Amino acid sequence: MDNFKVQLADIPFDITKADANSVWKNCLTIIKENVKPMTFNTWFLPIRPVSFENNVIKIQLPTQFFWEWIDEHYNHILNKAILSVIGPEGKLTYVITDEKESENELKISIAKNTETNSVSTKSTKPTTGNGSSSKDINFNSNLNPRYRFENFIKGEGNQLARATAGAISDNPGETSFNPFFVYGGVGLGKTHLIQAIGNRILEKFPDKKVIYLSTDSFTVEFVEAIQSNRVNEFQNFYRNIDVLIIDDIQFLTGKEKTQDLFFHIFNTLHQARKQIILSSDRPPKELKGMDERLISRFKWGLAADIQPPEYEMRIAILKSKAEEFGMTISTDIVEYIASNITSNIRELEGCLIKMLATASLNSKDISIDLARKIVREIASDRKLNLSIDDITKIVCEYLNVPENKVRDKTRKKEIVMARQLSMYFAKEFTKASLKTIGLHFGGRDHSTVIHACSSIEAALNDDSQLAEIVVKLKNKIELHYK
Ligand code: ADP
Ligand code: MG
Repeated sequence: MDNFKVQLADIPFDITKADANSVWKNCLTIIKENVKPMTFNTWFLPIRPVSFENNVIKIQLPTQFFWEWIDEHYNHILNKAILSVIGPEGKLTYVITDEKESENELKISIAKNTETNSVSTKSTKPTTGNGSSSKDINFNSNLNPRYRFENFIKGEGNQLARATAGAISDNPGETSFNPFFVYGGVGLGKTHLIQAIGNRILEKFPDKKVIYLSTDSFTVEFVEAIQSNRVNEFQNFYRNIDVLIIDDIQFLTGKEKTQDLFFHIFNTLHQARKQIILSSDRPPKELKGMDERLISRFKWGLAADIQPPEYEMRIAILKSKAEEFGMTISTDIVEYIASNITSNIRELEGCLIKMLATASLNSKDISIDLARKIVREIASDRKLNLSIDDITKIVCEYLNVPENKVRDKTRKKEIVMARQLSMYFAKEFTKASLKTIGLHFGGRDHSTVIHACSSIEAALNDDSQLAEIVVKLKNKIELHYK
């Protein structure tokens, strides 16, 4: 959770007059901003507020399992929401629906210091093997201890990246893989892998200063440092790190000042043989808007891609995650999911989680019907997550056509093609109506969209070059599902 978003539903909101419903409603508003829609619907909507007294909000959850899951995965979001709504004295207690009479109420104190963290403090558990460190006690690596090599499944698609990650963990800064640049589509394990390196290094070398952060956090911290005149301090801090892990470096494109600063930090660290690990959704050479000096440095070490999982790997992932979650799930269900969710490991995981929650909510077993229902829901969530603009961007980037041109009146051949393809995919991949799609492309009407879609469909049969472009683009779009 990098940029934690806070916006209260009822403003002005007077906490001294609030009741359980309004407190919880405000919490939900904040939580909703900070988790994926599926997570929100699955885990937070079923919660009911019970009472609110003396700054303590009591909520009711359907099962103990629900609480454990939320506590393990979304604890920090829940904490922050409660502190934002109730204030620093805010506390939470819970009861379980089906155990009404057993006073199984557990108080968790969440009134921790709210002001300290400008860097996200994700993990609730301490990193193992990091106990006897001589480091500054306040040093926070930001690593999530759940991301480990032990639970990172091997497959063809991640072979090189994984092997390199292993080598780096043994000898941080000392291999020729510096920087190590991991790239690939959404939900394929980049964050998991680069954090696994950090966790492994801390296990082996507890004294090393390892820090993980998203490019957004890095940028936000930098901006804050500028505002408070602490740029030197900021720079010195990063120059003293042993292992710097920065996620989603593509978000640095277009941010010239931050790039410049990062360039200097990069050089200092690299010269001192400190390990730098970066991830990105695309290879270095495709990072438009990134300083050429940085791009050339990104290529100094090793750039390894992660490809979507093949069928066998999808099966392996489902089996291993099911075990991790303590689920019993039959082979035909595993195979069904592996055949229907193909491009993204996060979605495979999401599917299991959602089945687990639904089954637990209704006290039912996990059946193939449930699997079908949830696979369908995931497909429709996907549609909601992808915008017409996302699609246009992907199409235009691929065809090398300026994005704003597709909205113009131009009849130039390649621009017409980009426009028609964008409309075609917008129809396939979003829930937008033909009218809305038309409006997105310079206010054209719905019949233009129908015409675009049917010309693409007609051409697919006898234009093998176009057919190939459509397949490639489809894969690209699927990789961008959020
Ligand atoms: P990315 O950063 O590429 O978008 P993540 O690292 O966030 O993807 O991975 C998405 C989810 O899938 C995470 O929960 C992660 O643990 C899981 N995952 C990804 N790759 C693997 C793998 N090879 N083995 C096990 N789990 C994986
Ligand atoms: Mg990631």
